[in-house]
Amino acid sequence: MSSTNTLRAFHIMAKPTGSACNLHCDYCFFLKKEKLYPGSNFHMSDEVHEAYIKQLFEAHQVPQVTVAWQGGEPTLMGLDFFRRSVEVQKLYARPGTCIENTFQTNGILLNDEWCRFFHENNFLIGLSLDGPKELHDTYRKDRGGHGTFELVVQAARLLQKHKVEFNILCTVNSKNADHPLEVYRFFRDDLGAHYIQFIPIVERDNESGYQEGNKVTDRSVRPDQWGRFLTEIFDEWVKKDVGDTFVLNFDGALAGWLGMAGTVCIFGPTCGLGLALEHNGDLYSCDHFVEPNYYLGNILETPMIDLVASEKQRKFGQDKKDSLPRYCRECEVLHICNGECPKNRFLETPDGEPGLNYLCAGYKAFFKHADKSMRVMAELIRQGKTADGVMRAIPVERTTLQERFKKAGRNDPCPCGATDKNGTPIKYKRCHGKIEFTTAISS
Ligand code: SF4
Ligand code: SF4
Repeated sequence: MSSTNTLRAFHIMAKPTGSACNLHCDYCFFLKKEKLYPGSNFHMSDEVHEAYIKQLFEAHQVPQVTVAWQGGEPTLMGLDFFRRSVEVQKLYARPGTCIENTFQTNGILLNDEWCRFFHENNFLIGLSLDGPKELHDTYRKDRGGHGTFELVVQAARLLQKHKVEFNILCTVNSKNADHPLEVYRFFRDDLGAHYIQFIPIVERDNESGYQEGNKVTDRSVRPDQWGRFLTEIFDEWVKKDVGDTFVLNFDGALAGWLGMAGTVCIFGPTCGLGLALEHNGDLYSCDHFVEPNYYLGNILETPMIDLVASEKQRKFGQDKKDSLPRYCRECEVLHICNGECPKNRFLETPDGEPGLNYLCAGYKAFFKHADKSMRVMAELIRQGKTADGVMRAIPVERTTLQERFKKAGRNDPCPCGATDKNGTPIKYKRCHGKIEFTTAISS
């Protein structure tokens, strides 16, 4: 059987305006891609648009097809482009296909008309917002250098008014990374958002962003910051928000504890099923690799499915696994992390092997910290229950442990279960008993 026949579902992020955008956020990697298409009008033609939709539906043999719009800024195409798209989609969808449109926007151009359209056609919106005003406006600026916070919040309110489902996409940089709870609570409480995704900003400190060297820009989040950011939000979330607020980073990680790593590509053992389509029909291996080396072909010349199933693309996805350094292959959280995204693998391991993820230390700390709660949630799901049971289970466990601490003799093994490097249980007086004793003296 050919690989084309075995390929059932994949994901294309279409960039109808290429990298063109009406903002000028300091960290935006899409802007750099303008250099790939000098002189272009960055406007998807009807020919490319129709070829994209037609080939996307022809290639999919699954009941649900996602049509993903991304930028640059897709609203710059104008609403009529997407009205037409919905019609073209109906024309080419197999009978009974469930069509989902996703749409990533900075929100600046949204108005009632856009939101009515989104609602009527079940678009799922991704809205870029980096936290409360001071944190958001640090980097997300218009071309005049002014902050855009008010306009984005106004867009969120419009989406809510029209009952349009939206995700908050928050990039985590060196500034907002030190304020995890402020950021999270702002989204949850002030904005009333139920779906949130955090994206670490990791920018190589050179022009193209993909050259040699391991320096990152000052805007980039540090690995330890990233770990603390996730950890602090996780602790708040797991106490009271599971089942009500969805954080994609946590859901994606939980899949690893369920033995299903890969519901988000960065944590999968391999990748290669999330490609990027430029405005002119050029297809690239991934949205993070819109680079000459990762160009697969143009869908006006070669059918999309052949490019997706090509040996070059298969190798791209397989390399995620094959290029893992030994340090990762022997890592205790490999089954959750899988080395994360190849775009961030530019460090050397402690033994000098290339290919370690820049965010490794942060991920490792976070995954270890979240392990206990994640195990509880995974077990609940395996039992056919919902993960929100963790909010009752973990406090009960904490109470029980506190009671056991109270009853423990100073020479008993510590109730927390800690052992020394030889596997011998550590005495209570040298473990949590020592902590309590120290705390009692100092308080
Ligand atoms: S390169 Fe990274 S972002 Fe792209 S598909 Fe692979 S894991 Fe996902
Ligand atoms: S935590 Fe670090 S060592 Fe472990 S798999 Fe992830 S990147 Fe590799």
